[in-house]
Amino acid sequence: MTLQVDNETQAKAYVQSVYETVVKRNPNESEFHQAVKEILESLTPVFAKHPKYMQHGILERLVEPERLITFRVPWVDDQGVIRVNRGFRVQFNSAIGPYKGGLRFHPSVNASIIKFLGFEQTFKNSLTGQQIGGGKGGSDFDPKGKSDNEIMRFTQSFMTELNKYIGQDIDVPAGDIGVGAREIGYMFGQYKRIRGAYEAGVLTGKGIIYGGSLARTEATGYGCVYFVNEMLQSQGLSFDGSTVVVSGSGNVAIYSIQKAMQLGAKVVACSDSNGYIYDENGIDLDTVRRLKEVERKRISEYVKEHPHATYHEGCNGIWTIPCDIALPSATQNEIDAEAAKTLVRNGVKAVGEGANMPSTLEAIEIFLEAGVLFGPAKAANAGGVAVSALEMSQNSMRYSWHFHEVDDKLHAIMKNIYRSSVQAAEEYGHPGNLVVGANIAGFIKVADAMIAQGVI
Ligand code: NDP
Repeated sequence: MTLQVDNETQAKAYVQSVYETVVKRNPNESEFHQAVKEILESLTPVFAKHPKYMQHGILERLVEPERLITFRVPWVDDQGVIRVNRGFRVQFNSAIGPYKGGLRFHPSVNASIIKFLGFEQTFKNSLTGQQIGGGKGGSDFDPKGKSDNEIMRFTQSFMTELNKYIGQDIDVPAGDIGVGAREIGYMFGQYKRIRGAYEAGVLTGKGIIYGGSLARTEATGYGCVYFVNEMLQSQGLSFDGSTVVVSGSGNVAIYSIQKAMQLGAKVVACSDSNGYIYDENGIDLDTVRRLKEVERKRISEYVKEHPHATYHEGCNGIWTIPCDIALPSATQNEIDAEAAKTLVRNGVKAVGEGANMPSTLEAIEIFLEAGVLFGPAKAANAGGVAVSALEMSQNSMRYSWHFHEVDDKLHAIMKNIYRSSVQAAEEYGHPGNLVVGANIAGFIKVADAMIAQGVI
């Protein structure tokens, strides 16, 4: 008993001291601090039970990326003006496989955001049960309003530098915010041209005709709904007949909406970075897909075709719409304490994080205290990277699986992530808390691999 108390005190002090070092060593990186804090706090019971992880300095090593690469990305716009953006790639942890994680093109991108995403990715990738390490990258380039030619020139310049650091057994980037099939296509072309080799496994999210995987486009959204479905079923609930609110209208949002609808839910709202639409009859997904995927227009256009629906400026208001299930699928910190309280007051039963870190630490606490079923990002949105790893497998075999084969594998992986998160939460004294469960389940595999591979 006394020994246990001593171990707990020691574990808490260890975690606190590592966190303080992170804050000191990475000043002004609030998103990175937030991601580290969320994970470190849930790992205390692991260190108390297994002091070997402290003795091997696992945390000190985990919070320091193996490598952070930044580079200049010069390109010429359609007016002939030379522009310069900054490119990033963080190679966070390769204990269980080559670095793997998306590229984000958004003006908000900086070292803090890339590091928070890369750190989270390490645990998420471990949770999938596949052999992929953690990485992430991107640029502060804003694709909005750019012509196809500008996008191509920018992505080619980006890849001209990035290609030096990646490879199918080294680091395998994919898409994220602002990087979809078009951008991956241009980057793959440029990589192939520079290397003079058809190395299909160097990027995932490729078009189907040149090495992509069926169901990769749908994977993150579908996977998130599969995960939430497991949470709902554990309480005798289901998507069928429920009201759902999904933020965003990009890749993750669109396919979360599609799968939720297929399971019988009514999805009444979605958004973009300007505002949100509310359609009490249930939104028309074909319109949203055409507007966002094909025409690349604003979500506000929806109400021109569906005049009974309403459009509201600003993003936060979407969380005031009463719903049974909320799927934040736009960006980080989109649900703050106020939004979480409103959702709880309006009777939300489940929240599944389609985006990365969409809920603040305070919001997560509010959900957990209110007994809301809460699926944290690194578990709930792991379906995208899981199918990316399946894309790598298919590339290695030079063979393609049918849609239903990939979808079945995705479904099984999401169920497995749910089960291992539930089990870890129980084993370490936090039954039902999937934040703690997912963090611990993801951590242990990486930590054990790091111990096995020595101090590197
Ligand atoms: P997309 O670029 O396809 O879509 C992003 C959506 O979110 C758009 O509707 C965009 O609106 C909106 N958005 C972007 N920034 C903001 C903001 N600051 N405030 C409000 N809305 C915003 O990206 P994805 O769907 O791929 O990614 C969404 C989230 O999911 C991200 O957190 C990403 O990291 C995460 N994720 C993505 C995976 C994937 O496979 N794609 C895998 C795992 C996680 P607008 O059109 O106005 O830009």
